Amino acid sequence: MKINIHGAAEEVTGSCSEISVGHNKFLVDCGLIQGSWKHEKRNAEPFPFEPADIDALILTHAHIDHSGRLPLLVKSGFSGPIYCHKANRELLEILLLDSAYLQEKEAEWNNRKRLRKGLPEIEPLYTRADVPAVLEQLHLVEYKEKLQLSKDTAFRLRNAGHILGSSHLEFYANEQGKEKTVVFSGDIGNPGAPIQQDPDIDGQPDLVIMESTYGNRNHISWEESEQELKESIEHAARDGGNVLIPAFAVGRTQTILHYFAKYFREWHLDQWDIFLDSPMAIKVTEAYEGYSYLYKETTQPFWSKGALCRHIPNLHFTADTNESMALNSIKSGAIIIAGSGMMTGGRIKHHMKHNLWRSQCDLIITGFQPEGTVGRRIVDGSPFIKLWGESIRVAASVHTIGGLSAHAGQRDLLHWYQKFSNSPPVILNHGSASTIEEFKDFLQQHTSGDITIAKKGQTFNL
Ligand SMILES: [Zn+2]
Ligand SMILES: [Zn+2]
Repeated sequence: MKINIHGAAEEVTGSCSEISVGHNKFLVDCGLIQGSWKHEKRNAEPFPFEPADIDALILTHAHIDHSGRLPLLVKSGFSGPIYCHKANRELLEILLLDSAYLQEKEAEWNNRKRLRKGLPEIEPLYTRADVPAVLEQLHLVEYKEKLQLSKDTAFRLRNAGHILGSSHLEFYANEQGKEKTVVFSGDIGNPGAPIQQDPDIDGQPDLVIMESTYGNRNHISWEESEQELKESIEHAARDGGNVLIPAFAVGRTQTILHYFAKYFREWHLDQWDIFLDSPMAIKVTEAYEGYSYLYKETTQPFWSKGALCRHIPNLHFTADTNESMALNSIKSGAIIIAGSGMMTGGRIKHHMKHNLWRSQCDLIITGFQPEGTVGRRIVDGSPFIKLWGESIRVAASVHTIGGLSAHAGQRDLLHWYQKFSNSPPVILNHGSASTIEEFKDFLQQHTSGDITIAKKGQTFNL
């Protein structure tokens, strides 16, 4: 068996690995490379394998950094089954259509400039019309269901506890009578999360391919995060204005809504009007409602169909643009959850324009803000930010909630690995170069397993 790491080697996006067993070839994930323009243009490069030669693809979860090049792969000749946990069906459709729309817009924007320069037009990476073909190739499976891929290969998905439908992959190959198991971690969830069940893994694999996104730091506990969120809401109630919560559509939004449902009385949320102002987050939240049986037992009552709106009777879904614009005239008493989580795009920018300069308002930041983003400048205490070229004063109170991450922190990653009773060799990927280096050192101090950092295009023989 050979494993070739095509993506997410010393970076956090573009996950894609290839497994070869005899004449059969399988892919694990086919994600979009995200980041600067320089990074993203690599998406258009030809695949380092022949898509038509791939027998099947196994998808760990629907996040675009794992699934975002599927339409391109299918367009380029891959016609095999795409196996994933059944809860990915809706999320994939929502996220791939959104990604395709962004590709179309980007090509349109580029072409306007190119035409003015007399340059030929470029094609988008893929369009919304390419998405249905991907969905038709989906083969939906349950956790722990063992499926045969070929005469000598099989696989099983285990719950990764990261987002809805996220999976670890156990891949089995029988070569000349020798049975080998490789585990691909996918993205590993942050144990103790309120909705997802904790990551589920064990066994004695021969090799582990493991993510390292937060391999250099630990998150604060879920209890502390809950307390921070509660205190921010109480602070905002005293301020008397509106509350803005920038949040990504998948995972973070549902976590916040879950806390609002659970603590509706305790946090006096009845004195607010709560708006989920993101068409994508609304659809994703509806998808989350379809799979409550997968969640922690105490969580399930909040997530059966229609339960969320029963627990938060003042929750309003404002998918329509006019409804969203109407929020601009509300001066107090509104909690507005909108994307994007890093405040780089989406409706949250409009709400920031209308609220950020008002000292009665509160901004609750619930996720990591990378360098170079508006969110980072606000977290760093910048008194002004720029929106559409206009300078906006930051007079609202800013709160940052620490630990709502869907990714395992350093300690949890170690505990995850320690579930394997044989200290198997491990290949680290899905982390920045410096983070992976730190995580390797940390892991080396605590385990006896052989640890390698994956390089792009590197092949491992097993
Ligand atoms: Zn992910
Ligand atoms: Zn990822």
